[in-house]
Amino acid sequence: MWSRRRLLRLGDDDFPLAPELWGRPDAKVVACGADAVAVTEAGSALSLDWQPTAGAYDAAACWLLDADRAWFACASGPWGRFRWPSPGWDTGDGSNCPAPSWDTGDGSNCPAPSHRAGVLPSPKGQREPSPLSQLLPLRQAWPMLGDEDAAAAVAGVALAAWHASHGFCAACGHPTEAETGGWVRHCPGCGIEHFPRIDPAIIVALVDNRDRLLLGGQPTWGKRRSVFAGFVMAGESLEQAVQREVGEEVGLDVDRVHYFGSQPWPFPRSLMVAFTAHVENPDALHVDGHEIVRADWFTRQQVRQAWDDGTIDPPPPMSIARRLIDTWLRG
Ligand SMILES: [Zn+2]
Repeated sequence: MWSRRRLLRLGDDDFPLAPELWGRPDAKVVACGADAVAVTEAGSALSLDWQPTAGAYDAAACWLLDADRAWFACASGPWGRFRWPSPGWDTGDGSNCPAPSWDTGDGSNCPAPSHRAGVLPSPKGQREPSPLSQLLPLRQAWPMLGDEDAAAAVAGVALAAWHASHGFCAACGHPTEAETGGWVRHCPGCGIEHFPRIDPAIIVALVDNRDRLLLGGQPTWGKRRSVFAGFVMAGESLEQAVQREVGEEVGLDVDRVHYFGSQPWPFPRSLMVAFTAHVENPDALHVDGHEIVRADWFTRQQVRQAWDDGTIDPPPPMSIARRLIDTWLRG
């Protein structure tokens, strides 16, 4: 599901590499907002080989390279400036910028790349797509993208969302500044370094003694039914979070809690940690009526039938929830 290619951070020391990286024929760029990613208009053949338009996007940038490396630089929020490298690229003042460049903040264009990462100069709310691209919500774009593009888009959106919401220091209130290619925010006021926040959440497939799977629905889901998820609370282990969430939402006791896998879920900053678990008392099922309004035990045949006839909808194809269900369906 995920590329084995390592996503490397493009840090301060690496930024002089940027022109070389961009010059490679397999370089790609991904432009992201806090909840969206830009993709080319090519139907199902969407890719991130795209030249963004000035002022159109909040942004993160990614250079995908050879077989085992992917360098990643990120937006730094409205305090920085990032000029997208593109032959003939309009820098916004009528001049063209032939090479990767970063605005030093003194009004000059096309300077040598510096240590500063930045964002496209985009007034908030101005997100008009260029003729070559469209900005899609990540949830919508994700299933269309290949594994590597999806991984880059997920990282870009996660970081862009973090920058968008962490412009000020939580310790002293001073405006923070992006560093290390956008992977760190530094506070000039008190010297603290801030790192991207990730909220762990558990997601669990519950199976009973008859090998049935429990699928539930939240109030806003319509016909979608899925496995069960919730955030890990402070001081809690992942296993304790599984037991608590299942108890709270459907009143069941679990044992045999086994790790299944994980998935970044940047809506806006989750890491989904997936488990399977066994339920000894399936008949004790009762939904909380708040987070979960409907839950039923399904055999494999019943799930396939319900998906086929549209009685219920599955979770999104790229989600680890879907992977949990598909794995169970294969027996
Ligand atoms: Zn501070």
